[in-house]
Amino acid sequence: MLEKKVENFNMNRVIDEFEEMTRNADQVQKQTLKEILHKNKSAIYLQNFGINGNTTDPEAFKALVPLVTDLDLEPYIKRMVDGDTSPILTALPVPAISLSSGTSQGRPKFIPFTDELMENTLQLFRTAFAFRNRDFPIDDNGRALQFIFSSKQYISTGGVPVGTATTNVYRNPNFKAGMKSIQSLCCSPDEVIFSPDVHQALYCHLLSGILFRDQVQYVFASFAHGLVHAFRTFEHVWEEIVTDIEDGVLSSRVTVPSVRNAMAKLLTAPNPELAKTIRTKCVSLSNWYGLIPALFPNAKYVYGIMTGSMEPYVKKLRHYAGELPLVSHDYGSSEGWIAANVTPRLSPEEATFAVIPNLGYFEFLPVSETGETEERPPVGLTEVEIGEEYEVVITNYAGLYRYRLGDVVKIVGFYNNTPQLKFICRRNLILSINIDKNTERDLQMSVESAAKRLAEEKIEVIDFSSHVDATSEPGHYVIYWEISGKTEDDVLQDCCNCLDEGFIDAGYMSSRKTKTIGALELRVVQKGTFRKVQEHFLGLGSSAGQFKMPRCVKPSNVKVLQILCDNVVSRFFSTAFE
Ligand code: AMP
Repeated sequence: MLEKKVENFNMNRVIDEFEEMTRNADQVQKQTLKEILHKNKSAIYLQNFGINGNTTDPEAFKALVPLVTDLDLEPYIKRMVDGDTSPILTALPVPAISLSSGTSQGRPKFIPFTDELMENTLQLFRTAFAFRNRDFPIDDNGRALQFIFSSKQYISTGGVPVGTATTNVYRNPNFKAGMKSIQSLCCSPDEVIFSPDVHQALYCHLLSGILFRDQVQYVFASFAHGLVHAFRTFEHVWEEIVTDIEDGVLSSRVTVPSVRNAMAKLLTAPNPELAKTIRTKCVSLSNWYGLIPALFPNAKYVYGIMTGSMEPYVKKLRHYAGELPLVSHDYGSSEGWIAANVTPRLSPEEATFAVIPNLGYFEFLPVSETGETEERPPVGLTEVEIGEEYEVVITNYAGLYRYRLGDVVKIVGFYNNTPQLKFICRRNLILSINIDKNTERDLQMSVESAAKRLAEEKIEVIDFSSHVDATSEPGHYVIYWEISGKTEDDVLQDCCNCLDEGFIDAGYMSSRKTKTIGALELRVVQKGTFRKVQEHFLGLGSSAGQFKMPRCVKPSNVKVLQILCDNVVSRFFSTAFE
């Protein structure tokens, strides 16, 4: 990776640049496309479509290059993962690969990660910070309590490092300097961020935050559920943390040597005074309301993604945050950043994001009211209409050309000439608790793989459905199966584990490992149950010929859930991640 000198942060300059860029959004888009195509003119992918560096006009580009999905790009990206360094999607070989949440038809989704993506990430962080800091200024020598965790990168058979996008960002040599320049230095030592054990890391993040409590200016996790999980954990471990501070000795629960050594440098001596303050605060709170400002008296806000699938966590987060503002983190994906929150005072429910026009070339595919992509062609960044919903299409520096991201957004206004959007949903998503993203196809593939175990007993899955059970903490997936015969419990237990392991989306697997998603539950229902479900729908006017079994039952569909629950004959909980 290229190590660059990270420029000093100047809030007014960053805001002025953003103003200028968004006033000229159309021109900036054309220029960005031109640069992307010029830089990557030797890419085999582009050359295959007749793009050779002379194409700079958006219309010509769109006429030559088709709209694609992750599945179309999979063979190209696989070549890179396998170590082919020829210019496949980008002129230069990609230095790393990101594991995106979601899957490509049951296989992990790989996305190129390049120096330009890192640069874009820092640009977005600077822009969002400038606007946040204008509304909620923080102290120069402050710190941020950031619940960030870098999972391990592994090296592919072709020698390319592979990790989640956040891991690739945190491991980048420019990350720390970039954070420092926007006054967001973490409280925790690097060893905590890179700890192989996330539970120990979380404990140390909480402890480090308290040791720097007066300096903490804001509290951050990428996703709201991460923030809620952190403070729920605090409710259980606070006394242990207080004891560590009182004695100046780290709890024996932290066993990773590098983490222990690093924490020992923070926890140098007993601090009974601090321990007493924290204990007094904790016991005086009513049901932990206002915990965050009680622990961090100088914090100005709480920051993280609170929109889309994170909305259910906002209520609990508000409870912990008390009077502190909740600021919604920006909009992007492993494929690239898209838009920044430049109106940080808006509540999570109202949050919108302004597209940054030089991060890529953006197109918007109209989506009809029924959620289907329409026949209408995609429109450009400045041609979108307020009130309309679109699927985002990205062309960027990291080798994605007219790539359908799969997210649906709604245009709610314009910031100068760039659209401000609201995140609506991920297309085709049926099972999602926090950062996990599973489609109907993913469920089907998981069921197919588990059904193989059943087939060994000469039994078939007659029909299946699912739902997310969020009534207990943490939430978990429930899969309903109607099967053709009777079998031993241990066979069904195997099937249950197989179902759990069958969801190979990176977001699901990491949440299962960290136990922020509970064990998958298999509920076997009596014979004839799915027929009852079908009869229910026919009774509501569905046509028998067109009836399609709902593969996921929403909590609002009380009647169907009741039919399924009333007919459960046995239940199994996965032990796959124990
Ligand atoms: P990943 O590829 O694993 O980084 O996940 C990116 C996905 O998370 C996006 O495609 C969106 O579906 C979702 N996402 C990212 N930012 C936001 C946001 N601010 N609000 C809601 N959902 C988001």
